[in-house]
Amino acid sequence: MGDPVRGRFAPTPSGYLHIGNAFTALLAWLQVRQQGGEFVLRIEDLDERRLNPEYVSAILEDLSWLGLDWDEGPDVAGRHGAYRQKDRIEQYQHAFDSLKKQGLVYPCFCSRKELREAASAPHGLASEGPVYRGTCRLLLSAEQLRRMRQKQPAWRFVVPNRPVEFTDLVAGHQQFGTAFGGDFIVYRADAVFSYQLAVVVDDAEMGITQVLRGDDLLDSTVRQIYLYEALGLEQPSFAHVPLIYSADGERFAKRDGSMTLRSLRSKGVTAEQITGYLGWFAGLLDRPEPLRPEDLVEMFDVRRIARSKVLLPQDWMDTLTG
Ligand code: GLU
Repeated sequence: MGDPVRGRFAPTPSGYLHIGNAFTALLAWLQVRQQGGEFVLRIEDLDERRLNPEYVSAILEDLSWLGLDWDEGPDVAGRHGAYRQKDRIEQYQHAFDSLKKQGLVYPCFCSRKELREAASAPHGLASEGPVYRGTCRLLLSAEQLRRMRQKQPAWRFVVPNRPVEFTDLVAGHQQFGTAFGGDFIVYRADAVFSYQLAVVVDDAEMGITQVLRGDDLLDSTVRQIYLYEALGLEQPSFAHVPLIYSADGERFAKRDGSMTLRSLRSKGVTAEQITGYLGWFAGLLDRPEPLRPEDLVEMFDVRRIARSKVLLPQDWMDTLTG
């Protein structure tokens, strides 16, 4: 028997789950359940500045309300725990040490201001800002040591000089050249491991075989593939699904409360109504009829997921509550 199919949902607890998060969670859950696999809930709470612990229990509660379940998570012990990133620092340190030993990271002393000024074009990662020009890559070690006495550096990964190609199960074939994004941070100057490093270590150690997430992270995948290779870890398959936007094309911000599952629920909207719409937005249903997540399991097919971004209908709230 081969390895079990394993997928995950990995929210950052910086707000209540909104309809867009619910879309991703539902599809990731369906992809796993359709194959009889195991679903993991992991809380990405590395960056304390962005978090509020109250959101963790709210996320668990909202996902359950929607009708999703998980086989391992912060409240369900499993073989691959812990399921909160703040409890996994040793694993990240271990991976970081391995990169260091291989000479694949270097300290970067650039200030935010320098980074902004040095950026020739804003063509970095959609999720992370301008391209890093490699200013600190060539510092001599004596100079590195001198600067380290004055300033705690960030550490960047040396991006190899070769392009990356992969086939995304939803977004299709992807090709990224070497100039893309530049050397990226794996350990921040404020002593926090970066998302890119943590997510790779976690997905690999948790035996995740398929990653389904929002397509704002599509270009992060390139960086993650470099890390999988450098750390000798097995890569999962990738599926990046469209985000949901409000009718005027704005992306939901966590601070915009109106589209959180909590707020919809408080207006009397049911989990079945929401699931029906999410299934319809995904292209799995012809009509947004109310149903439960398990009703979608059999018809789920990752190749049927629409590629283009989802705009909420203008009168959506009225339709739901009317
Ligand atoms: N924690 C990320 C978020 O909430 C998702 C990371 C991932 O799925 O790789 O957007």
